[in-house]
Amino acid sequence: MEKQQNKKLYIISGSSGVGKGTVLKSLLERHPEFMLSISCTTRSPREGEKDGVNYFFLSREEFEDCVNKDKFLEWAEFAGNRYGTKKKYIQQCLTEGKDVILEIETQGALKVKQQMPEAVLIFIEPPSLETLENRLRGRHTEDETTIQKRLMEVSKELEVAKQYDYQVINDDLAKTVEEIEKIIIKEQGLC
Ligand code: ADP
Ligand code: 5GP
Repeated sequence: MEKQQNKKLYIISGSSGVGKGTVLKSLLERHPEFMLSISCTTRSPREGEKDGVNYFFLSREEFEDCVNKDKFLEWAEFAGNRYGTKKKYIQQCLTEGKDVILEIETQGALKVKQQMPEAVLIFIEPPSLETLENRLRGRHTEDETTIQKRLMEVSKELEVAKQYDYQVINDDLAKTVEEIEKIIIKEQGLC
């Protein structure tokens, strides 16, 4: 009998600087059929980030308006800014039978899992805390205060990671991408 393909929601989380963006970029190059949800945020764009591409950059008031109008599947406050996933895009992708990927932090991930138990939670871990800090600093995108706020979240995040369906250590980039690819293929019921 032909295997049934399960279209699902995949959530990728990991501490700031662990390599989520880098891993996803490579995964999406290999799998353009995966739909990446673009989140809303109240944080300011980094150099090179574009509205509607990396995020929808909203003011606090605009974000609050979306919360009040129940437009978010989930939202959370992280290191002084708010981040939220719009319901509409996710519903549309799943209705169209497409796999959707959310790159969100742990509080939001657990909220989604409560509403959609079939969502697959994948946590990307660093090879070591030292490597994580070096990557975060080496990116040169945050000031010292922001770096400290993000590092303060790490131990909590690693604790929540135990509740995830999968944990993947991002040491060698190509291997990490392959590992996540294998998880998705397995969850799709293709092997
Ligand atoms: P995140 O999206 O999780 O905050 P990034 O994707 O921005 O993290 O990666 C942070 C930094 O770490 C970037 O400079 C990126 O090039 C680097 N990086 C990501 N993955 C690896 C890896 N496997 N090995 C070495 N450096 C990596
Ligand atoms: P950054 O500011 O580095 O882009 O993102 C900070 C954190 O917010 C990361 O852990 C990222 O995964 C998370 N994030 C991005 N979008 C969302 C979202 O829509 N919801 C939640 N809960 N977290 C998000």
